[in-house]
Parts: sequence; structure tokens; C-alpha cells
Amino acid sequence: MQRTSVYVGECIYCRSKNGLSDEHAIPFALKGNNVLEKASCSACAAITSRFELSILRRTMIGPRTVLELPTRRKKQRPLQLPMIFVRGDVKTEELVPIDDAVPVLVLPELGPPESLRTLRHVAGLNHGDFKPNVHTFPIERDAEHLRQLLAKYQADAVEIPWEIDHEDFRRMLAKIAMCEAIFCFGYQQFEEIYLRSAILGNDRTSYWVGSDGAYDIYLEGGFDDSSHVFAIMRPHGYTEVWTRIKLWNKSMTPEYLVVVGRLRPSYARFLDAHHLIA
Ligand SMILES: [Zn+2]
Repeated sequence: MQRTSVYVGECIYCRSKNGLSDEHAIPFALKGNNVLEKASCSACAAITSRFELSILRRTMIGPRTVLELPTRRKKQRPLQLPMIFVRGDVKTEELVPIDDAVPVLVLPELGPPESLRTLRHVAGLNHGDFKPNVHTFPIERDAEHLRQLLAKYQADAVEIPWEIDHEDFRRMLAKIAMCEAIFCFGYQQFEEIYLRSAILGNDRTSYWVGSDGAYDIYLEGGFDDSSHVFAIMRPHGYTEVWTRIKLWNKSMTPEYLVVVGRLRPSYARFLDAHHLIA
């Protein structure tokens, strides 16, 4: 795995200079490569790992297991995943071997960030909306696999259990967006980062994190962090930075839009004058 890193030397969330550790932009468990060195204090690391683990262990355990994404606890990688079998009027949740399981990727559709009042969503979602969307993964398995599964387990139907915490998911996106933007421009080039309080749980994440429902990166490409893709957006003449995030680039997963913060005006002018992206 190729790992690229940028040195920070201060907690990017609370500005503490003590007890710093490296911060992965995309979590290690989702194969993230971009690392901010010495960028999170232990108190903030405890906060960010709590919401990341909520998503990684509860919401994304199926895809992580089937894709054999990295884990620091290899021996604890599950050998079975839960499925719900429907037989007549009875529903039961049972653990089945990995090869039988149909892991789902739950990635919600979000309305536009509340701070971008004039931005409209392609499918008409309102600002701050959260609509869970279940992607079966990998898609090519579906029909034949499902038929075999119903026969093997003598069931009339199967359902796939899943759960997602709205706030934890938005906070994970906010963290990823902030880290990738710092990775792109450098920490010192930001005059203000709006996301700090939201990531630490003291501000509304829906104000900064959302989606316009478009598929811009999917069509036009962006920069890669393993199997995930990003675009850092800052129109010419503006200081405000947005990060566009698409988790799992090779599927029709939603693209998220996160309002990160403002660059120092002199730095933004320098980039503009020289037609630089970062
Ligand atoms: Zn901190």
C-alpha cells in the first residue's frame, strides 16, 4: 500500500501540541493512504475513533469483510455475517458463512448542506435531508446467488440487516473532507476551518455536510485515495474550500459535498495568479 503523508505538528481539531498521533484522512480500515503526521491529540483521537468505529464496525462491516479491507485485528475478522430469513410469517436473523452472505453498502443520500442556501439537489432533496440508501455489494452476485440462498436455507425471502447512525456518518464525512483538504493545501494555509466544532460534536454537521445529488467526480475524475475519490473545489477568486467525496469510486454511490473552511486570502490570490490548484 502506498502511503503519502504531510506533516502538521498540531492537533487539527483543538490545536493542542501535546500527545500527537498521525491522522488517516480516510480510515485505515477503508484502505486510506493519505496521512497527516502528528495531527490529532489523544483526546480528539478518542472522539473521532468513536464515530468512525460506529460506521466501520456497524454499518460497513459487511463490505469490509468481503473485500478483505485492512484491519488491525485480523484474528477478529468475522467468518460469518448476519442475514434475516423469512419463512412464512416468521423472520429470523441467522449468521451465515461469508460466501453465503450478501453484504450491503449503506450510503445515504443527503440533502444540500444547510449553509449553502441557494444550492439545489438534483433529485429535489431538502437541505439537511438524510435518506438511507442500500447498495448490495458486489452487485453482480445478486439474482443467481439469491436463488441459491433461498434454496439452501429453505426460505421464502431474505433481508439484509443494516444500521447507520446519521450523525456519526456525517461526522465521518466531515473528518475525511477536512483531512483531505489539509492534505491538498497544507494546514497553515487555512485562515479558518469551519468543521472543527461539528467533528468534535459541538455544532450541526448538517450545516456543512450534504450533497447536491450530482455525479461530477464519477464523470470527470478526481484524485484518488485508494478506492475512494475526491475533488477539492475552490472557484477562481474565492477563498472558501469545498471537498467532494465519493466513497467506493467504482459503484454508483452518492457524491457528498462538504464545506470545509477558508484559505488565507494572500494564499488564494497566489494560487489564482499562478493558475495553481494547490
Ligand atoms: Zn485535539
